[in-house]
Amino acid sequence: QAKATGRDTWVVFDPIMRARVQERIDMHLALREALAQEQFRLAFQPIVHLASGRIRGAEALIRWDHPVRGAIPPDAFIPVAEESGVIIEIGRWVIHGALRQLAVWRERGVVSDDFWLSINVSPRQLRDPQLCVEVAAALEQYGVSGSAVMIELTESVMIDPTSGADQALSTLRELGVQLVVDDFGTGFSALGYLRKYPVTGVKIDRSFVAGLGVNPEDEEIVRAVVAMSAALKLSVVAEGVQDRSQQSVLSGLGVIYGQGWLWGRPVDAASFELAWSMTSANR
Ligand code: C2E
Ligand code: MG
Ligand code: MG
Ligand code: MG
Repeated sequence: QAKATGRDTWVVFDPIMRARVQERIDMHLALREALAQEQFRLAFQPIVHLASGRIRGAEALIRWDHPVRGAIPPDAFIPVAEESGVIIEIGRWVIHGALRQLAVWRERGVVSDDFWLSINVSPRQLRDPQLCVEVAAALEQYGVSGSAVMIELTESVMIDPTSGADQALSTLRELGVQLVVDDFGTGFSALGYLRKYPVTGVKIDRSFVAGLGVNPEDEEIVRAVVAMSAALKLSVVAEGVQDRSQQSVLSGLGVIYGQGWLWGRPVDAASFELAWSMTSANR
């Protein structure tokens, strides 16, 4: 119930709507502040070879420690950042933070040379023509090869014909970066994009993993994803693996990689290193 008062001005009368708009504006300003005040940090969660439990990579996940509100989960602010466009700068911060950490771990022998780091990239970032240039520059700056980086995309990017994803994905792929579809299975069933775009893998959404041993349908879905991925030569990571029985069912179905609380929650770099360093005594 907004009423136009002039060419560009809109006055919002509905108090609920006004409150909602105000909340988004406040959040946007708080996100800018967060960047300036360095309130963001990265957490890392291991991605393992399912059959052996050996570490193969990690996903970098952003965390926001608000000085007053405390920890704000990404699902509560990423959509706002996306809408307001500040995700471009936050995303840049994530890419640099993640690659810098990877370079440090490599140099100190914490991770093997074929260890990869997964980074989430939002649709708005992919539409930014600067993204590929920045990724290329960051790879160069931190001395990391593209193949050590996995970019996680949402299905919506590839279904939206106006997203301009074609060019960005091809360029990223030329840099050697792996491109995986996050939360696979939750979006659309139009699978043609897997052929159309240079995607290298999928991450099976945790809702399907949670249903293993509960809903027979979920097992069939995982089986179908594995078969399709084998045919298309795509890598498969199962998300949200929380117990041994899920691990063995997934492994039995032919899923190669897993991620979830069974092996570890997302933690800061120091804790990650303590738990997963190649050079530590417990490895
Ligand atoms: P996602 O990319 O699908 O990340 C996986 C989410 O599942 C993470 O939530 C992770 O903490 C959670 N998770 C991992 N293992 C388990 C498990 O065994 N059980 C359960 N229940 N959950 C598990 P988180 O960290 O809250 O992130 C939520 C979403 O926010 C991410 O989903 C991603 O879409 C977005 N996000 C996080 N970091 C970034 C970022 O740096 N950039 C962008 N654009 N989005 C991000
Ligand atoms: Mg992800
Ligand atoms: Mg996911
Ligand atoms: Mg998700």
